[in-house]
Formats: sequence, structure tokens, C-alpha cells
Amino acid sequence: MQRESVTAYVGIGANLGDALLAVRQAIEDLGHVPGVHLLKASSLYRTAPIDSSGPDYINAVVAVQTTFCAPDLLARLQALESGAGRERPYRNAPRTLDLDLLLYGDARIASADLTVPHPRMWERAFVVMPLTEIAPWIVAPQALLRVRDQRIEIV
Ligand code: ATP
Ligand code: CA
Ligand code: CA
Repeated sequence: MQRESVTAYVGIGANLGDALLAVRQAIEDLGHVPGVHLLKASSLYRTAPIDSSGPDYINAVVAVQTTFCAPDLLARLQALESGAGRERPYRNAPRTLDLDLLLYGDARIASADLTVPHPRMWERAFVVMPLTEIAPWIVAPQALLRVRDQRIEIV
């Protein structure tokens, strides 16, 4: 049986090694995962680390259409992170690639391994600004006000 497909939004971040290349590559790789169709990719953004350390981050948000259920999509995202050499030495450590499942249709999920919508997405200019670029109907005006003091620039 063909599973119904769902629109999901994925946040991409990197701040180790060639972060620009890592984010570009991740967008391309995501589009090649069977069961995932890339609908739209935001510009690439540069942001200073928040609650984190190391060089500036490169961030983007993409919209995908997928036949995977949310946990399976997360597993695919984590496989791409591993492929990019992601290690987790400590919380908020600098990373070669981070892929967060921001939204999965209008699903609300609260399991041990997966919370959707991503619980911190609306606090972060590096999510809110690229999301506004590709899906402005999702972003309330108050969400933009909330992140307006965070430094962020298009690469
Ligand atoms: P943050 O979640 O604040 O952005 P992080 O991306 O650095 O922090 P990770 O170390 O990448 O955190 O992930 C920690 C765990 O978060 C993962 O093992 C995963 O199971 C869990 N997780 C829960 N909800 C989500 C989600 N919506 N997207 C991605 N991972 C999630
Ligand atoms: Ca993250
Ligand atoms: Ca993550």
C-alpha cells in the first residue's frame, strides 16, 4: 500500500570543517534519499553560535515531501549526519552536520527520541528566518519579533 506523503521541514546546521560545503552537500544528499523529495531549500545563512561554541554556523531550512513516518525520516537524517562524520562529544558541541526535524505535517509527537514540532525552533533566528523565506505562511509575526535581536546574514 502506498503511504500518504507528508510535507516536512528540516533544519540544517554545521560549524566545523567546511560548513558551507557540508550544508550544500546535505541538501543535495537529502534530495537523493529514496522516499524523500526535496520541495524547496532556503538560502544559506551565517549565524554566531548560541548556547554553543566554535566558529559561526551555516544554516538552512528545507521543505521535503516524504512517504516516511516521522521516526523513519529522523533515522534517515541521522544516517546523513553520521555519513558527514557527526560526533556528539558533549551537548551543543560544534558539529560537522546537524539535521533537525522541525515540522512533520501538522503532527505533534512527544516520544523519547523525537519531539515535533522541534521544541526550540521558534527561539532560533537560524530556523525562523530561513523558514520565513520558504514557507512564510507558517511563521507568525510574533515569531519574527522574538528573534529580531539575533545576528544573522544570508551567505
Ligand atoms: P537541539 O535539539 O537543541 O537543536 P542538537 O541538535 O544539538 O540540539 P542532537 O545531539 O543533534 O541535539 O540530538 C539529540 C537528540 O534529540 C537526538 O538523539 C534525537 O533523538 C532527539 N530529538 C528529539 N526531537 C528531535 C527532532 N525534532 N529532530 C531531531 N532530533 C530530535
Ligand atoms: Ca539542532
Ligand atoms: Ca539535532
